[in-house]
Amino acid sequence: MEFKKNQIIELNIDDIGNEGEGIGHIDGYALFLKNAVIGDRVRAKIIKTKKNYGFARVEEILEPSKDRVEPKCPVARPCGGCTLQHFNYKKQLEYKFHKVKNCLERIGGLENIESKMEPIYGMEEPFYYRNKAQFPVGTDKDGNLVTGFYAGRTHTIIDCRHCVIQHPVNECILQKVLAYMEKNHISAYDERTHQGLIRHIVTRVGFVTGEIMVCLVVNGSKKDLRNLNVLVDSLKEIDGMTSICVNVNQERTNRILGNKIEEVYGPAYIYDYIGNVKYQIGPLSFFQVNPKQTKVLYEKALEYAQLNGNETVWDLYCGIGTISLFLAQKAKQVYGVEIVKEAIDDARLNAKMNGFSNAEFFVGKAEEVLPREYKKNGIYADVIVVDPPRKGCDGKLLDTMVKMEPKRIVYVSCDPATLARDIKILEGNGYQTEKVSVVDQFSHSSHVESVVLLSNKNVKKK
Ligand code: SAH
Repeated sequence: MEFKKNQIIELNIDDIGNEGEGIGHIDGYALFLKNAVIGDRVRAKIIKTKKNYGFARVEEILEPSKDRVEPKCPVARPCGGCTLQHFNYKKQLEYKFHKVKNCLERIGGLENIESKMEPIYGMEEPFYYRNKAQFPVGTDKDGNLVTGFYAGRTHTIIDCRHCVIQHPVNECILQKVLAYMEKNHISAYDERTHQGLIRHIVTRVGFVTGEIMVCLVVNGSKKDLRNLNVLVDSLKEIDGMTSICVNVNQERTNRILGNKIEEVYGPAYIYDYIGNVKYQIGPLSFFQVNPKQTKVLYEKALEYAQLNGNETVWDLYCGIGTISLFLAQKAKQVYGVEIVKEAIDDARLNAKMNGFSNAEFFVGKAEEVLPREYKKNGIYADVIVVDPPRKGCDGKLLDTMVKMEPKRIVYVSCDPATLARDIKILEGNGYQTEKVSVVDQFSHSSHVESVVLLSNKNVKKK
């Protein structure tokens, strides 16, 4: 059967794609549909065709799947954020578990992997879990101020002040900032004309400390915000408001934050804890967005590392040292490597603040620092932890890791496909996958986080 753009079809959704989209088949031809779930029968319009597959848009759900639920958020569909909110949470978890399992089997070539997988760690309450929000500010066609989020793949702002995955305090913050802007005639930034002042409202919440930060991203400086003290007084009414600051961003850019920060009230950072480790978090710091599940994830990494206090551990792609400091609680010595200098500044600061003298950090590419230190200084590791970005580990890095013969490798991953690819290499070089756990860090999105323990087969024999 030939398909054409704009053609209307009816089909059953029988599979789920990598981004959480529904997949249906007609005569073997696969069609990808956003907002459709396995078990739905839908009427859809074809929007794009390729030789072996195409894309369609759901026009009407003819028979809903039994796994379909009413999204809690009324604008879940246009929003680019939660791609899975219409999918029963239990099913989301099953989907994520199987995604990891399938990758490990098909790409990693691991047989019988399910027996080594722990049940997925889901959230008890998969809402209001994020500690970081960045709301764009603009005006609608009638000139009213709007804030919320960009509709998927566009820069059209959809007004939405109650996001069901953000901390509830955000709604109150947005009301206060917009009320201040209206009263004091503070303009919203317009990216087409590069005019106007407020670009984004960025917030951070410490889930353990209760500390809250509001950072206004301004096309100008704090001096341009008239009667700013009125806003400060209003925001201070919120329990836990310890940090109000301005981020200067006068560039014509899609980047949300500029480099310069101006303090307005309190320091330009808040504190939070993951487990017993305290972290200082500024507007520019990278910090995991789901602190509750991050604790679950790092505790798994720590458990898999099996430390008794005598080990030397390398934490590669260490960011602000979150995992490194977690490990430093139980290891003799931890070395962290990270490419972003500012992140390493944070890591050193956090190490000092927590009183860890056994954590040292290197700025650079993991695939350059580790081979260099191995060649030059003959460095050693009992355990190596990696937490690379989605593209996974560099081949040169894996090579050096294998040469260093650590007893254990703990692989934390945000992309099961590259995880599986790298595990296959490690398995081919004397390592064996022992345990796998999947942790749901990003409920209602298709992102999957997992931790794998690999052990050195030779050491085991010895
Ligand atoms: N483990 C940290 C961060 C993991 S995110 C945490 O849990 O908070 C991955 C990190 O790898 C990012 O901080 C990114 O800046 C860093 N990165 C990316 N490429 C890198 C490379 N080639 N070498 C070292 N670090 C890299």
